[in-house]
Amino acid sequence: MPDPLFHRLSLLGVGLIGSSIARIARERGDIAAEVVVNARTQMTLDRTMELGIADRVEIDPARAVVGADCVVLCAPVGAFADLAVRIAPYLSPGAVLTDVGSTKQSVIRDVGSLVPAGVHFVPAHPIAGTEHSGPDAGFAELFQGRWTALTPPPGTDEAAIEKIAELWRRCGSLVERMEASHHDRVLAIVSHLPHLIAFTICGTADDLADESRQEVVNFAASGFRDFTRIAASDPVMWRDIFLNNREALLEMLQRFMEDAQAMARAVRWGDAAYIEDKVERGRKIRRSLIERKQA
Ligand code: NAP
Repeated sequence: MPDPLFHRLSLLGVGLIGSSIARIARERGDIAAEVVVNARTQMTLDRTMELGIADRVEIDPARAVVGADCVVLCAPVGAFADLAVRIAPYLSPGAVLTDVGSTKQSVIRDVGSLVPAGVHFVPAHPIAGTEHSGPDAGFAELFQGRWTALTPPPGTDEAAIEKIAELWRRCGSLVERMEASHHDRVLAIVSHLPHLIAFTICGTADDLADESRQEVVNFAASGFRDFTRIAASDPVMWRDIFLNNREALLEMLQRFMEDAQAMARAVRWGDAAYIEDKVERGRKIRRSLIERKQA
């Protein structure tokens, strides 16, 4: 087995993503010699120890990062600035600080300026997830065959970037480097807008009169059900994502509303060809996902 990539890996947050990394580190043995976990509540830390996925837990993030050569921020992105303030004085020289946050320009803005000299900051985002949260939700196969985007600011130490790339490869992920602004636009269309639509459509259905609401539940399998799965995601995490990718999300929403208007016009005027063409494009996208094993 190759040497562990890190001597001490510190995970700040141990929900779906953090606990999946912890499980992989435990199973593989070539990621870290020691895994230290921090969370906001003692209940989560107790559960982490029960699950046997950490060597040590710390309720104080500063204590959790002491002596770590890799620190991963795995909390909701809105918590990163506060966490960075608390850990910055305790980060070891030469350590790599990274994250798994779903927005990247905001993380560079909130965390980048707080990183002490001699510590390398490599923002990252594993593009894999489910609607479940908490330490029980994680599983070791979560990142298998999925992409992880690395968005290091210009001038970031290449050896540190390569270490984080290797961390994700050992988690089973495919790795791609891109600019943070590009990442945020792409994720706005493939993830953030679909979630916004799902939360909205569930709200619209919930506002219907009581008698129709019962039918919404009974007949959900006809399409609505898939939206409810997405809409079951953690409210704090999604609040933070929307507020931290505001510009790109609003731009994609504007485009979407224009296209939805065009579809509405086609329905109103009986433009069958337009409707068929849009449905056909949807089928094509689905086929290409299946072919690339990303379905
Ligand atoms: P999660 O399951 O809800 O877990 C969040 C973890 O962060 C918990 O351990 C929680 O501790 C801790 N935490 C919450 N608020 C905190 C705060 N204010 N300060 C410090 N710690 C706090 O979340 P997740 O789904 O793993 O998501 C974690 C990160 O990964 C987010 O930044 C998200 O954008 C990103 N991400 C998520 C997905 C996804 O599909 N879920 C995919 C890719 C990336 P307690 O349990 O003690 O409250």
